[in-house]
Amino acid sequence: MDLSYGQEYEDFRNEVRAFLDANWPPKESATDGKSLGDIANEFREKAVDHGYLLRNIPKKYGGCEQSPDSMKAAVITEEFRKVHAPQSFGGIGPMMLVPTLLERGEEWQKEKFVAKSVRGEYQWCQGYSEPGSGSDLASLKTRADLVGDEWVINGQKIWTTTAREADFMFCLCRTEPDAPKHGGISYLLIPMDQPGIEVRPLKQMTGGADFNEVFLTDAKTPKDWIVGKRGEGWLVSRTTLKHERNGIGGAGRNDVMLAGLVSLATNAVRNGKPAIEDAEVRRQLVFIEGYMKSHEYSSFYQLTRDVNGKEPGRLGLMNKIVGTNISHHVARFALDLLGDGGLLDPSADDRSLGRVPGEARQWVTQYMYSLGIAVAGGTANIQRNVVGERGLGLPRDTFANADRSAKQ
Ligand SMILES: Cc1cc2nc3c(=O)[nH]c(=O)nc-3n(C[C@H](O)[C@H](O)[C@H](O)COP(=O)(O)OP(=O)(O)OC[C@H]3O[C@@H](n4cnc5c(N)ncnc54)[C@H](O)[C@@H]3O)c2cc1C
Repeated sequence: MDLSYGQEYEDFRNEVRAFLDANWPPKESATDGKSLGDIANEFREKAVDHGYLLRNIPKKYGGCEQSPDSMKAAVITEEFRKVHAPQSFGGIGPMMLVPTLLERGEEWQKEKFVAKSVRGEYQWCQGYSEPGSGSDLASLKTRADLVGDEWVINGQKIWTTTAREADFMFCLCRTEPDAPKHGGISYLLIPMDQPGIEVRPLKQMTGGADFNEVFLTDAKTPKDWIVGKRGEGWLVSRTTLKHERNGIGGAGRNDVMLAGLVSLATNAVRNGKPAIEDAEVRRQLVFIEGYMKSHEYSSFYQLTRDVNGKEPGRLGLMNKIVGTNISHHVARFALDLLGDGGLLDPSADDRSLGRVPGEARQWVTQYMYSLGIAVAGGTANIQRNVVGERGLGLPRDTFANADRSAKQ
């Protein structure tokens, strides 16, 4: 197996490094009086001008329109990450909606939404899940009726991340109540700032409230704010989900997590010595590093498929499972190393315990998030079943089949 990127790409890597050396972090004189957000955005704009960011976005929608080259994209991501340089302008819009619109949207939709979404000027949220319709998403009940030139929407969404900050929601609604369940769904874009939408935050165990319930009561959106054809929203939603899973399942954060864990093991004390000198701690670290390496190599395999124009398919599902497993293993081991500190409520003020709270809080929060991220974008159980049944040809899961038919 040849893991090198080849001379052409190593030359390109040097070019990217030279750009980063010159521009990130920016010289102090260039940052006077500017907010961190403005500094990061200025840098991103420079990177767009050089052809490093927003590569797959046509110029007319605010990108730098480079010819598709997954290897170059991988080199850029790797090098930017090494020096912690900002990449995406951030949010659900650039990660999920923009690629969906580029693949399946109408021209006017691309013109209206892409440029502002990739720069974070338009914030989005994803209105898929409902109470009772998560894994069995196609059973969703939120209904949209065409009345004159508008869709009128009634129903409830749940677990809607960033709904309070969002300007718009991309939302799955039942528009053909008499069609078979997958066939009766449409993919609508809905403005959030209107009287028919009420957003209620859901408090999480981390102490934050990233999720929300969204209640739609005669909410309205124009007739043509539909992506794909009426009743074909399920197909469109698959495109979005593919990008969501790829975003969650990447191996890119592994080195940062490992470095954090090694630093924690070096500073923590076990049996009166630095924990990293303990044989069991070292065994765990090696296990985690090995797991990360296999994830990384599997990501290279996915990259090779991409270069050859193949969809990630089940490999994308596997990488998401492995990526979320790793993040869970890392955080759980960090809690062991923290000892009592690993039991702290991350939202509590723990200074009274006489500890430096930041590190413990960060790991406990990561642990709690690692439980959720295995569920987001399709649960690990369901994905294991898909990989087992469709990838490995195993017999179908009898429990899940009984469950599925009960829900239909
Ligand atoms: C961090 C996070 C962010 C999220 N953000 C959003 C968002 O922005 N927008 C949005 O719409 N949704 C969002 N979600 C919701 C997410 O998509 C759902 O939680 C997920 O699809 C699972 O649905 P559920 O919670 O209803 O669980 P259920 O579907 O009720 O599943 C419960 C358990 O049963 C298992 N199970 C169910 N059916 C089967 C089966 N057939 N075979 C085997 N096992 C099965 C599941 O694996 C799971 O363990 C988010 C969730 C999380 C955790």
